Amino acid sequence: MTDARPFPAAARESLADSQLRHNLAVATTTIRARRAAVVGEVADWEGLRRRGAAVKAYSLEHLDELLEQLEASVTATGGVVHWAADAAAARRIVTGLVAATGAEEVLKVKSLTTDEIDLNAGLAAAGVAALETDLAELVVQLAGDRPSHIVVPAIHKNRAEIRDLFARTIGPADLTDSPAELAAAARAFLRRRFLAGGVTISGANFAAAESGAICVVESEGNGRMCLTLASTLITVMGIEKVVPRLTDLAALLALLPRSATGERLNPYTSLWTGVHPGDGPQSFHLVLLDNGRSRVLADRVGRDALRCIRCAACLNVCPVYERAGGGAYGTTYPGPIGAILEPQRDSLERRGSLPFASSLCGACAEVCPVGIDIPRLLVHLRGAEVDRKRGRPLEGRTERTAMAILARAFSGRRRYEAAQRLGRGGDRLARARGAALRDALMGPWTRSRELPVAPDQTFREWWRERAGEDDRGRS
Ligand code: SF4
Repeated sequence: MTDARPFPAAARESLADSQLRHNLAVATTTIRARRAAVVGEVADWEGLRRRGAAVKAYSLEHLDELLEQLEASVTATGGVVHWAADAAAARRIVTGLVAATGAEEVLKVKSLTTDEIDLNAGLAAAGVAALETDLAELVVQLAGDRPSHIVVPAIHKNRAEIRDLFARTIGPADLTDSPAELAAAARAFLRRRFLAGGVTISGANFAAAESGAICVVESEGNGRMCLTLASTLITVMGIEKVVPRLTDLAALLALLPRSATGERLNPYTSLWTGVHPGDGPQSFHLVLLDNGRSRVLADRVGRDALRCIRCAACLNVCPVYERAGGGAYGTTYPGPIGAILEPQRDSLERRGSLPFASSLCGACAEVCPVGIDIPRLLVHLRGAEVDRKRGRPLEGRTERTAMAILARAFSGRRRYEAAQRLGRGGDRLARARGAALRDALMGPWTRSRELPVAPDQTFREWWRERAGEDDRGRS
């Protein structure tokens, strides 16, 4: 379920929610501090980052071969591989597989990929209830809300809000907001469903082509329960998650938990290979999802977005995300990674405002564990969006005119100084005539910012005047 509104419109709404901003600031500050502490323990963090980036870059360069190898390995170990070109195809495949089991309820292990294809709605339309088993995903589901963070989907909610929600839905009614009690309430609600052992649907963090091993990491053990107790396991995986060998996970599994939750190891790292008689799910299906990824791969600059390992470190340091929240992006993947991935994977027509949802401060690139140069991709996509609008009669005309004037003003010293004098005069006039004229001239810029007062003198004027005084003093 996504929101088609441009980022500025959706962000305006979320910025007005001071509770949301407070919740986000507290949560991201805590995660940032934990990440910094555990990253600081690693002697050669930069070397580790380079190794992780190299694995992902190699995998993208050889994606076609690796996917075919993965299909062969999964098939050889008793699994069934399905290829889904888009979200509709993936929903069709998964609902068909669930229908074949006769199940009316399925358990979900937290998965962005299934959110991306709106699987829960597809299953509901087929008469199947999907129950989220990750605590934060359960909170979001019970609230009828949307996830607002990649790793902590309910980051926008505080404990008191969750207590009220649980008391209203899964009980008990006299719940307090102690984390232990909240977790116990969710555990009591979920446990008998785990033990029923029906159909589980998961995503995947990584897959090793050589052996067909699939890897899911999580913190609560709900995933381990679902993955081992299910009779049928269906995994929906974006095609970019494949790596050549199991040993390639060494760097990625060291980078991911430190970057995501500030932990040295993921509490639960589940790896499985096909099916094994009498042990674990007896039926395993792997759905390989494209859904725009091939298009991203075709762009030599933009393809770096596919290196992402979904740690959310870029969200936690982004000043725009911290204030606007994940909901304002309107996409499954919010924050800086969403701003570079979604306009490519979905389309610039629908998501063209996202590359502009950044101050280009560069904090995201500094923390990205696989070295994605996010600001470079943002600028690349901004260029593509400007090009897309170039042929249009109205959209972008103001911006183009402003840029043409600026280009002329910056093309020579005399022109630049004349523009400064003109700007100073305009500033005085706007101030004399009040806010209405200033807002008409500057538009949304002055709606949320103070317009700086133009100085009476430029530096050059001051310098010339000072030099003249010195000359007079000497003569
Ligand atoms: S872009 Fe980098 S920092 Fe952001 S979620 Fe992906 S891997 Fe993490």
